[in-house]
Amino acid sequence: MKIIFHPRFNEVYTNDPAAAPGRMEAMVTALERDFEFVEPNPASDRDLERVHGRQHIQSVKEEPLVYEIGRLAAGGAILAAELAFEGQPAFALIRPPGHHASPHSCWGFCYFNNIAIAVKKLMSEEKIKGAFILDFDLHFGDGTSNTFSGSPSVYYFHPEGNRREGFLGEVKRCFQAQKACDIIAISAGFDRHEEDWGGLLKTEDYRSIGRWAKEFSLDHCRGRRFGVLEGGYNHSVLGRNVRSFLDGFGG
Ligand SMILES: [Zn+2]
Repeated sequence: MKIIFHPRFNEVYTNDPAAAPGRMEAMVTALERDFEFVEPNPASDRDLERVHGRQHIQSVKEEPLVYEIGRLAAGGAILAAELAFEGQPAFALIRPPGHHASPHSCWGFCYFNNIAIAVKKLMSEEKIKGAFILDFDLHFGDGTSNTFSGSPSVYYFHPEGNRREGFLGEVKRCFQAQKACDIIAISAGFDRHEEDWGGLLKTEDYRSIGRWAKEFSLDHCRGRRFGVLEGGYNHSVLGRNVRSFLDGFGG
């Protein structure tokens, strides 16, 4: 299980909770002793253009630091997807997050849709025909959903149960109902934790979700699976929540 990370993700590129100082460091501290870290290259404009319009990319470029870190994050998701395609599960520990970035607009601390850019890259290279994207962040990934709204081969699912058992049941059932696919991609947001904004899930629940995703991938897509970080804002629990997910997802 490889972690895709770049020290530049520690940079405070803007003033929002995803870019807050200390957020990445909290996760790195929880992971660095037990996982191999790999540095990504920035995504090219061509990579970004598979999802985003030129005008949107241009508007992000007007904030040079956001653009630089943003394309490095997209490059991180691409590298995670490429490793997963080759049979090595990977997790992109990146920011800014991406699931609220649509082809021509963005909001919610997102600029470029990292997971969509990664999936589209593998599709454009004809490595995969489709994907199953599970997004367990507290918030619906409107950007990802918009990006793939006309693509029947990419299935996006965001469970929304507002009780713990109900939510976990929804996640479990979505794996049982899902047919074979070429790769599974997880938008991993940790803001639904009981000590984060959503106030719902326990740390061990992320391990269960990770394990179900792993089992699904072994049964249906040759173990091809990768995750990318989305939300999660309580620095005091974020490290152990990511750790818990990876214990199930990699294991
Ligand atoms: Zn969120």
